[in-house]
Amino acid sequence: MIYINLLKQRKALDYIKPYIPGKPLWEVQKELGLTRVIKLASNENPLGPSPKAIDAITSRLSGINRYPDAHAFELKSVIASQLSLSISQLIITNGADELITLISETYLESGDEIIVPAPSFSEYDFGAHLMGAKVVSVPLDNKYQFNIDSILSAVTDYTKLIYICSPNNPTGTYLPKYMLKKLLHSLPKNILVVFDSAYSHFATKEDYTNGLEYVRSGYPIIVLQTFSKIYGLAGVRVGFGAAPKSIIQSILHVKEPFNVNSLAQAAAVAAITDEEHVDRSKQVNTAGREQLYKALNELGLPYTESMSNFVLVEFGTEAKKIYEELLNLGVIVRYGDTWGMPKHIRISIGTHEENSILIEAICSIQSKGENR
Ligand SMILES: *Cc1c(COP(=O)(O)O)cnc(C)c1O
Repeated sequence: MIYINLLKQRKALDYIKPYIPGKPLWEVQKELGLTRVIKLASNENPLGPSPKAIDAITSRLSGINRYPDAHAFELKSVIASQLSLSISQLIITNGADELITLISETYLESGDEIIVPAPSFSEYDFGAHLMGAKVVSVPLDNKYQFNIDSILSAVTDYTKLIYICSPNNPTGTYLPKYMLKKLLHSLPKNILVVFDSAYSHFATKEDYTNGLEYVRSGYPIIVLQTFSKIYGLAGVRVGFGAAPKSIIQSILHVKEPFNVNSLAQAAAVAAITDEEHVDRSKQVNTAGREQLYKALNELGLPYTESMSNFVLVEFGTEAKKIYEELLNLGVIVRYGDTWGMPKHIRISIGTHEENSILIEAICSIQSKGENR
C-alpha cells in the first residue's frame, strides 16, 4: 500500500527554514577522499576539550544506567560561585540552542514580535517561528555595528523579546557596555532582553560586557552562555542561562526534567574549573586572530575586526567559488549565503598550524585565479 499523508502540519512550521550546519569533517573526508581536512566552520575549540572534562566523562560512564540530576545541582553550584550568582538565577540546558527554544515557548504567543539585529544567529528566528511569532529584523549599520536607536524605534506593543548577540555571530562585532545600559534603561519593563554572550570569553576590548552585571542588579535580561565554544564541549550539548529568579522560574515550567545528560553535566563542571585550558584557548584565539588579520591585510582582503573566535571576510563576487575551492583543498569554512551575505565567508580561528594551512590555501587559489 502506498501511504498518502493527509496529516496537516502546523501552519507555523511553513516559516521554519532548516538549519544548515557546518559540514562535518568525516563527510568532507569521505566525499573528497582527502586525508587531511581541517574544519574552521563552526567556531569550535581547536585545542579540543579540557583533559579534565574527558576524565570526568570517563569516570561517570558506569553510572549511565541512572537518570541524570534533573536540577543539575552540582553544575549550577559551580557556575553560581564562579559568576557570583545564586542557584535560583540559573538554568542549565541542552546547549544554548535549547534555551532559545525554551525562552520562545515561555514568552511568545502567536502574533507577538521579537526584535533581532541582522545578520545574526538563526536560532532566534527559529524559536519565534515555532511559536507563530513575528521576527522584526533591524539591520546592523554598514560596519556591522549595533544601532541602539534603530532597535528602540522597532519596539511596538507586541514586542516581547529583543535579542542581542555580543560578540555577534557572524560579524564578530559587539555591543559596548554603555549601549547595553542605555537599551536596558530605555526599554519598557515588559520586554526581555536576551543577551547571547556565547563568545564572551574571546572578547578583549575593555568596554565589552557579558551582561551578567545587569542580571545581578535585577534588570529584565537573560544572559545565554554555552559550553560549546571556549570550553570545547560542543558534542555533548550543554549551556546555561542566567537571569533574575522570577524569569528563571517561568522558563523552568517548559523545561523537560532530564534535558541535560549526566556525562555532559560532569564534563561541564570539569571544563569550567579548568582555568589553564580556558586561558590557553583564549591566548591561542587572540594570537590566531592577529595571524589571520596580518595575512588578510597582505592579501588585500577586507574583514571585520572580531571580538570572537571567527572572522568575517569579504571575498567579493568570487566568494562562493573560493568557498568551494577551499573545500576541495580540505579546508571547511562557512559560506555567507546563510546570512544573506553571498560575498562573505566566515572563518573560525584554528590552531596556528590550521590557520597557516588556510592562509596558504587562499594564496594558492588567488594565484591560480590571476593566472587564468
Ligand atoms: C554556538 C552558539 C550558541 C550555542 O550553541 P549550543 O551549542 O547550542 O550551546 C549560541 N549562540 C550563538 C550565537 C552561537 O554561535
